[in-house]
Amino acid sequence: VRVASLLLAAVALAACALLGGPLSPELRSDLDLLRGAAPGEIGAYALAESLVTEVGPRFAGSPGDGRAVRWALRTLTALGFRNVHAEPVTVPHWERGAIVVEMRAPYAQRFEAVALGGSVATPRDGIEAEVLVVASPDELEKLPAAAVQGRIVYFGGRTERTSDGTGYNRAVPARRQGPAVAARKGARAVLIRSIGTGAHRFAHTGATKYEEGTRRIPAAALSAPDADLLERALRSAPVRVRVALSARDRGEARSANVIGEIPGVTDEIVLLGAHLDSWDVTPGANDDAAGVGIVIAAAQRLARLGKPYRTIRVVLFANEEFGVSGGKAYVRAHAAELGRHAVVMEADSGSGPVFRLNGDVAEADWPLVEALAAELRLEAGLNGKDGGVDVGELRKQGVPELQAAQDAGVYFDVHHTADDTVDKLDREGLAQATGVFAALAHVASEDAPGLRRLAVARTASPAGK
Ligand SMILES: [Zn+2]
Repeated sequence: VRVASLLLAAVALAACALLGGPLSPELRSDLDLLRGAAPGEIGAYALAESLVTEVGPRFAGSPGDGRAVRWALRTLTALGFRNVHAEPVTVPHWERGAIVVEMRAPYAQRFEAVALGGSVATPRDGIEAEVLVVASPDELEKLPAAAVQGRIVYFGGRTERTSDGTGYNRAVPARRQGPAVAARKGARAVLIRSIGTGAHRFAHTGATKYEEGTRRIPAAALSAPDADLLERALRSAPVRVRVALSARDRGEARSANVIGEIPGVTDEIVLLGAHLDSWDVTPGANDDAAGVGIVIAAAQRLARLGKPYRTIRVVLFANEEFGVSGGKAYVRAHAAELGRHAVVMEADSGSGPVFRLNGDVAEADWPLVEALAAELRLEAGLNGKDGGVDVGELRKQGVPELQAAQDAGVYFDVHHTADDTVDKLDREGLAQATGVFAALAHVASEDAPGLRRLAVARTASPAGK
């Protein structure tokens, strides 16, 4: 009889493993519960709408930045988070001023344009020069300096629409490195086709990065239809353009990371992050009020299950857009407790639904991530990927990251433009993403056998990478 019951138990275990993989039935029912909204809960959409309506643009160092910090403190407090506080972060303070970009020859036309974040100013009367067209910084690198000297370089590369953001990643070097490469070759200014997939007349801003020891030249983005106009003019004749912009660097300012917790049984931490700041030209509904809404709503939903095993810590980071000040300050301020960070996650890809699960976890834990993806009906992606920018500072220190990849197919239509408004939020996407973040955070916060390893830093794992 004993042998028979042992056999039965073995068969039951095997069946369980086949059906549920490493996830226990209790955990699977928790996950089901977490993926549905509770009656009356304040969802991600309402939270994003509140931030955009009550604060609006919240660029590092601006008055809106301070209002966003106060919004976050009062919102987390009102929702019952514990240990709600602001941690000081020093941020750069840049002001874009005014901009005029116009074609002088062969046709007189004014362009819709926006300065790239961090751009230096032109002289008061602007800079007028003949335009040199290239597709990318790589192409410009191959040109002799004599061909670039004295010109306004125009980067015409297009942003391909993709769900996983790879089209954006391929296009973005024109903005980040283009002006530095052009300056090194002797160019006087840079224009780029907006990095984005929108066909509207809003130009997309975003940070550019000058090289130490190289001259800094002004840089701006044209809206897509204005880039088309420039390219049509270039078909028939050399084009002269004048760029005048009055941006200025105002030194440093004070901002803050805002933190709230759902205390767990242990002081180990599952960190849910998003960034509180936005670019100055935009209310940033998708970037990143959406992410702020997702992580707050997901943590709230988790609290319904009672006290988590690990502490759920929501971190709303300062200044992601213009130098990742908040992510870097967090790692410095929490250096002594980095080892207690079990898993980090970040929401910063807009309001689309999660469709794939990537990670940067110990190889031994990857099968669990795959099982989770199957359970949540998501694609299993890659392990060892770069994920969130703010939590990337923690990832560099060896903290494991779970990456819930949201569909970014339309995200880059309005990304970093004045048109990133509440009506562009995907309500259903936000609801689904909240459920996925809540489910993943629950697994990461649990003490169930077989899940614990996910909490062991990669360096400590014998099978670690
Ligand atoms: Zn963002």
